[in-house]
Amino acid sequence: MFGAASDIPWQRKIRRVGQLNMTEHDPATMNVEEWADYWTSLKVDAVLVSVTGILAFYQTKVPFHRKGKYLGDRDFFGDCCSAAKKRGLHVIARMSPDLNWADAVAAHPEWFQQDSQGKAVVHTEDSRLFRTCMFSTYMTDYMPAIMREINSLYDVDGMFTNAWPPLGRLPVCHCPVCRKLPPSDSIEYWDKFNDRTVELWKRYDSIAKEKKAANFYFANLGGGIRSTANLVKLGEMCEWFQCDNQGRGGDDTPMWVCAMQGRVCNAVQDGKMATNVTGAWSTGPVRWRNVAKGENEARMWMNETLASGMVPYHHIVGGETGLGEDRRSLEPARKYFEWTAKHDRHFTNKRSIADIGVVMGQRTQLFYRPPRGVLTQQYMDGLYYALLEGRFLFDFVHEEKLAADHLSKYRALILPNIALLSDAQCAQLRAYADAGGSLLATFETSLYSERNEKRPDFGLADVFGIRKAGEIKGTNGNAYAARIESQHAIVEGFADTHWIAGAEFRLPVAAVDHPLLTVVPGFVAYPPELAYPEPSHTSEPAVVVKEEGRSRRVYFPGDVERTLWRSGHTDLTRLLRNAIRWVAGQDSPVTIEGDGVVETFAWETEAGFAVHVLNYTNPAMHRGWLRDFYPIGSQRVRIKLPAGRRVTRVELLRGGATVPFQVNGGSIRFTIPRVVDYEVAALHSA
Ligand SMILES: [Zn+2]
Repeated sequence: MFGAASDIPWQRKIRRVGQLNMTEHDPATMNVEEWADYWTSLKVDAVLVSVTGILAFYQTKVPFHRKGKYLGDRDFFGDCCSAAKKRGLHVIARMSPDLNWADAVAAHPEWFQQDSQGKAVVHTEDSRLFRTCMFSTYMTDYMPAIMREINSLYDVDGMFTNAWPPLGRLPVCHCPVCRKLPPSDSIEYWDKFNDRTVELWKRYDSIAKEKKAANFYFANLGGGIRSTANLVKLGEMCEWFQCDNQGRGGDDTPMWVCAMQGRVCNAVQDGKMATNVTGAWSTGPVRWRNVAKGENEARMWMNETLASGMVPYHHIVGGETGLGEDRRSLEPARKYFEWTAKHDRHFTNKRSIADIGVVMGQRTQLFYRPPRGVLTQQYMDGLYYALLEGRFLFDFVHEEKLAADHLSKYRALILPNIALLSDAQCAQLRAYADAGGSLLATFETSLYSERNEKRPDFGLADVFGIRKAGEIKGTNGNAYAARIESQHAIVEGFADTHWIAGAEFRLPVAAVDHPLLTVVPGFVAYPPELAYPEPSHTSEPAVVVKEEGRSRRVYFPGDVERTLWRSGHTDLTRLLRNAIRWVAGQDSPVTIEGDGVVETFAWETEAGFAVHVLNYTNPAMHRGWLRDFYPIGSQRVRIKLPAGRRVTRVELLRGGATVPFQVNGGSIRFTIPRVVDYEVAALHSA
């Protein structure tokens, strides 16, 4: 993969991307040359230019491709395309296959999604537009006609569709084609959805290649761990993983969801390029498409993009006159991109240095039915928080990528309620543990097959030494507690107590010899007279711990990670940190010690190695947006160097200084004196 630079296709070398997402009004007022100069000043490798499919930005002849009302006789796409091309930028033709107008509905009702009454489904925000169906000929006739027209008229380098495949949830359609499909929330439907997505993706890619063999097609993905399309299937096909993950608002979205997206990409892309679209506009539950978001919030999103191994992407909606009515995002993005351009070799990653893998469970995210009132993503939210608090370096691992060669780099794998696992995946995990790998799992992990069929007992029962002994128990008032029965690394640091927090839900398992924690049953919160456990001592395990050779295995019957997220309880942070540290062992390839809540990444890079520290120590960590940054002090870094590698210099890319370092026992040590929002320690290595 990392052959001579000239053998690598251009799209795998992209370091920066820009997009002015054109509005219908832009052809009337936008200054194309001025914008092209702006993107050139950002040193972007490519720009996305709107063709669309909802509104044409050029003189189309494709029926029902309506020309924008301000287009007149202008070739707006052509003007933008040639302005970019003459400045040496690659041009991606952007299309939207998701919506069309009433005249198209009248002529081609079969193109559109239908409700249960057979009526075309109206777009929620503008009732003049209707939602198209991805199983219809709209996708195989209309969209290809536009793509071929673009090929015939313009020198483009690739094609992109916005809004398809759908992000976040599977489509619901009652058109004659879809009525023959399984129900849209079923795994059987998901199979059809993935088959159709792969079929269309390949078709569009071959149309892109009709122009030039090097051209390619890609689409919006993203959605983090809750992505709808099968990411392993698309990861194999897609040249450019475009994450439509533009930002957060004041809706309790934690700071790290952009970095989490990067981890998802790394799990499926095998080193290929991924971009994360940062909205310059005001993202969140209340939106302003043409008003800039706060500079610090946008900057942290870019930081996370880079740190997690993705390529930054500056996205502005609407050009209007001059460089826009709101120009506040322009200069910060230019400065940021200029800074990254100085250090491209340190941001070009070869592999992540982490020996903990977190299984992300795409099927579980899509199809698992958690207890009432529970959101499936909360299991990962809680575990992620515990991993950050414990300063662990980790990768995501997709459940369809559990082959031995893929897992060999990991000392431990964590399964945060990965309920759906096939027999084959359970066998892969068993083989991993038999070979000395360590495992930590919670709650209903492996209790369901990949088809969401409930097993009588855990698929991994033998691996953890557990047996299901009842149905899920919830909480009525007080959640259950856990009684400390014996001393162990997992309960280190709990003093002056026999009881610690348990979890909100648990799946009872059979008693084990020498339990470490047992369940103290829950009881009511009110009245306090009745707020005591009866009995207070049981033999039901609150954790099951097993050691076989090098392999350490921990199973929590409770949804401890999710309860940490819901309660914020520090006992659960300590318990999870201890358990993760115990399964992962003391021999971590990278440690970063210091104050503050940080997210960290370590990479082998084109130039050597890089350690990224994102400073989340901020009152807006759990709820946007960031106002100010709160600098943290010295961070002491230790990295084990691979045999034969020598470091010549440690450079702080943000601080702009070189720092001293010591090498002994095969490890390099140095200190980052201060982190404002983000620091990258770049190790130049021979
Ligand atoms: Zn349909």
